[in-house]
Amino acid sequence: MPTVDGATIIARSLRDQGVEHMFGVLGVPVYPIAGAAKKEGIKFYSFRNEQAASYAAGAVGYLTGRPGVCLAVSGPGMIHAIAGLANAWSNCWPMLLIGGANDSYQNGLGAFQEAPQVEAARPFVKYAARPDSMARMPFFIEQAIRHSMAGRPGATYIDLPGDFISGEIDEESVRYSQKYEEPPRPFADPTAVEQALDLLRSAENPLVVVGKGAAYARAEDEVKEFIETTQLPFLPSPMGKGLLPDDHPLSVAAARSYALQNADVIFLVGARLNWIMHFGAPPRFRADVRTIQLDISAEEIGNGVPAEVGLVGDARSVLSQLNESLRNKPWQYPAETTWRVGIAKKAQDNQAGTEPLLNDDAVPMGYYRALREMRDRLPKDVILVSEGANTMDIARAVLPSFFPRHRLDAGSFGTMGVGTGFAIASSVVHPDKKVVALLGDSAFGFSGMEVEVACRFNLPIVFVVFNNNMGGGQRYVVNAHYEQIIEAFGGKGYYVNTPEEFGTALTDAIGDPTPSLINVMIDPKAQRRPQQFEWLTR
Ligand code: ADP
Repeated sequence: MPTVDGATIIARSLRDQGVEHMFGVLGVPVYPIAGAAKKEGIKFYSFRNEQAASYAAGAVGYLTGRPGVCLAVSGPGMIHAIAGLANAWSNCWPMLLIGGANDSYQNGLGAFQEAPQVEAARPFVKYAARPDSMARMPFFIEQAIRHSMAGRPGATYIDLPGDFISGEIDEESVRYSQKYEEPPRPFADPTAVEQALDLLRSAENPLVVVGKGAAYARAEDEVKEFIETTQLPFLPSPMGKGLLPDDHPLSVAAARSYALQNADVIFLVGARLNWIMHFGAPPRFRADVRTIQLDISAEEIGNGVPAEVGLVGDARSVLSQLNESLRNKPWQYPAETTWRVGIAKKAQDNQAGTEPLLNDDAVPMGYYRALREMRDRLPKDVILVSEGANTMDIARAVLPSFFPRHRLDAGSFGTMGVGTGFAIASSVVHPDKKVVALLGDSAFGFSGMEVEVACRFNLPIVFVVFNNNMGGGQRYVVNAHYEQIIEAFGGKGYYVNTPEEFGTALTDAIGDPTPSLINVMIDPKAQRRPQQFEWLTR
């Protein structure tokens, strides 16, 4: 009777579910899974720490709409990877973590790296399970993939004892599952669709906020049609940037605080009123602001702030309903209103306030001047990963995005250390694109060793480290040569002090497929331009 080993069953199940990329750290007992996965055509990228690998898996989920997979060894490895589960949970991204575990017949004996792994994963996942038999592993894998994608996306976990991975069973006893193709994309209640449009029509100061839920839903065409038909002002969330190009005339990003503070009706499209949106509360919002909320998760509607209209459904489907209704009963927000004038004036003032900083050639550089080099030199379709405190916040204002899902940052969880994993994920999903990871020196420190992975797999990533010798208010080793880290692995390193040096290094690095790291010396005293309100800096 022909037999098959557990690793092959697992790898075939993952392949059947459309998994293309897997990230992880190899060791006992999961070695054979990576080997079997390669045989099934799945690309395996071994990382230096499960934490970064698990962040990469979440990023693949966001970028592709299907879960990325992280493979971790038992105990400590699986525990490191919980970082990625939590990050995916917070961002509502699909991912699957596969954790190796001690042999099932050693449970409770104090086995090597034994830990309550299913329980540890549970708070951050939609689904966590240990298969009850080898033959049924495909069933559990399909279930985990389905749960991660359906409804509000999220993380899932499968626990695999070593004997399930290395054992062999009769091939005929295994029943493989069909691929879970696409989650349902529900439409909203048609009455709510009309109510939403009525409320927008009645608004004096309407504002549409587009979030990464809309980006995840791939709703860019529908958002564009809706915004351009209605001529409503819109504001992208940090990762909603690029869903419509940042230079779109209806974007109010340059007057963000003013727009949020004065809008009387806000239409949230795949964006939560969480800390990033200041909880929808005064003084950042009007106390009498009325909201329309579009979200795949019914539970999210009215969270914190009561929603006047709730549109429960998929962003793409629901926007197409709105567009359809507008075709039957056309309406446009007027071209000349005090609201538009106020936004334009505020945007102009803000830009004028930033201009001197962008043009300040002092050395060491401030953030704005350094970012100006990037703004002027990055390709339009660059995938930009950014993290750090000032580095990320200021980059958000200075560096535009022009395409959906081309910008990843610390996200809803405010996670530092995601940058290298996100950059590697972006590069393997889009091998034809340039990926630039802009990292504060503190953020780089969390997962800096992963540049070795970029070098090993020849990924054309440019890591840019903004080095102000500081992290979390603490002073690091002064003028550390972070670029030497990538040189140790065969990448190209640049150490730059002046805008000219940075510009030349950037152009060189962008034009060269070799992975590179530009260590940019930033004035330790440099700060963000004073803000009316603290935002993400607190
Ligand atoms: P941002 O940080 O960009 O403001 P959030 O992560 O706060 O965005 O919110 C994203 C929201 O999008 C979540 O509440 C999530 O439930 C929702 N979402 C996820 N997928 C979809 C979808 N296909 N259609 C509509 N909403 C979605």
